[in-house]
Amino acid sequence: MPVSFSLSPEQEQLKHGARQFAEAHLRDLADAVRAEPDPLRRALLARPAFEKAVEAGFLKGFVPVPFGGAAGGGVDAAILIEEWAAHSPDFVISMAGPLIALAPVYQVGTPEQIERFVAPFLADAGAPVAAMAYSEPGGSANFDLPAPAEGTRTTAVDDGDHWVVNGRKAWASHLPGWDGDGPDVMTIVCRTPGGVSLVVAEREHLAGHIEVEQYYDLPGLRGCLTARIRLVDVRVPKANLLGAEGQGVELTRNAFVGSGASIGTFAVAAMRRAFDVAHRFATTERRGGAVPIIEHQSVADVLADAKARIEAVRLLSWRALDAALSGHPSGLEWALHAKVFGSETGVDVINDLIKLVGVSAYDHDFPLVRYLNDALAYPVIEGSNIGVRRRQMQALLTGEGYDALAASGMS
Ligand SMILES: Cc1cc2nc3c(=O)[nH]c(=O)nc-3n(C[C@H](O)[C@H](O)[C@H](O)COP(=O)(O)OP(=O)(O)OC[C@H]3O[C@@H](n4cnc5c(N)ncnc54)[C@H](O)[C@@H]3O)c2cc1C
Repeated sequence: MPVSFSLSPEQEQLKHGARQFAEAHLRDLADAVRAEPDPLRRALLARPAFEKAVEAGFLKGFVPVPFGGAAGGGVDAAILIEEWAAHSPDFVISMAGPLIALAPVYQVGTPEQIERFVAPFLADAGAPVAAMAYSEPGGSANFDLPAPAEGTRTTAVDDGDHWVVNGRKAWASHLPGWDGDGPDVMTIVCRTPGGVSLVVAEREHLAGHIEVEQYYDLPGLRGCLTARIRLVDVRVPKANLLGAEGQGVELTRNAFVGSGASIGTFAVAAMRRAFDVAHRFATTERRGGAVPIIEHQSVADVLADAKARIEAVRLLSWRALDAALSGHPSGLEWALHAKVFGSETGVDVINDLIKLVGVSAYDHDFPLVRYLNDALAYPVIEGSNIGVRRRQMQALLTGEGYDALAASGMS
């Protein structure tokens, strides 16, 4: 990223295109999702907009250029994510599946694997979805540990030309696919004789072998298609192992670097909407007093501090996505800061804005708590800040020769 923070003409165009799409398709979707109580029915509401986004070429934007896609740089990704997530963060999470699930394919896939697994996402047709099946119902923060810890419990057993996969997976977007027969591509973190490994199951392997135990009813990100499932005798060709047996821990951690960085931008989107609501309230409401409440210095201070923190997280997230998606050596550190600092700042800022508005905010119909409900997800998804992300930062800090100036280029 050049050290200029002005958007280029192309980025301006991207911002306007993304905003137009969001206003045309995601605003109404968000209203419909809010009104639908059933978690599966409301997740399926996204499909028409999803198909339109695919047709318009947006899905390709999540696939890097060397693999046939049209992904731009990290700042471009931040612009698109912020514009869409401002209306419907759940829709973005749903579409961004390939960003995580295909990352290990890009890293170690054979040319044949790359062509086969990436193809559905380049077709500009239908509603192809990908799931990164890492999380398990009994916990995932310690997925890398060997026995006697449980670590990763899902197994892939050697059966001649195939792996036979059994186990339970949870949370990942689109585990059951749109229809219960699985996503187009599911990257499964599992235990093989050689250790934690990744195998890719395609729809033809998954259909009829997924038992949905529960569709989660999330407090925020209400339109996400998240479920707890059982994989029953999923037979996957041996040729679908990614990299080597035992390489799964490293590949899984790498897969979540870019998406971790993006969490800062998701938090910005929620803060930006909450700020607008609180600012409008403060400039128009007197609450029985003589002046709009923004004239009270204590109220203006809350808005001033909120705005500064929003801008700080936005810039941090641009930097983090740029570093993570360009493969910068400090990409992981930047991603961790955007994930941890961005997500926790998001919760704090929106909570402060709720306090500013006062009791009126404590009503489902007042458009503020909904953004807190979305923001509350960000410290715990994409690897919880306590169990996963700060542990990764701890590993960097305790590494030999850690250079605190390297990330900024100031060493
Ligand atoms: C909308 C949404 C989308 C998601 N998308 C995906 C996805 O695409 N793919 C996917 O696989 N998952 C996905 N998840 C799950 C998500 O990534 C979780 O962050 C992940 O399961 C890990 O959760 P956890 O860290 O809380 O782990 P857990 O193992 O459940 O740990 C729970 C808590 O225990 C403590 N803890 C456990 N171990 C340690 C330790 N070693 N050190 C310190 N503290 C510890 C921490 O406080 C931690 O938060 C999604 C979830 C949601 C809600």
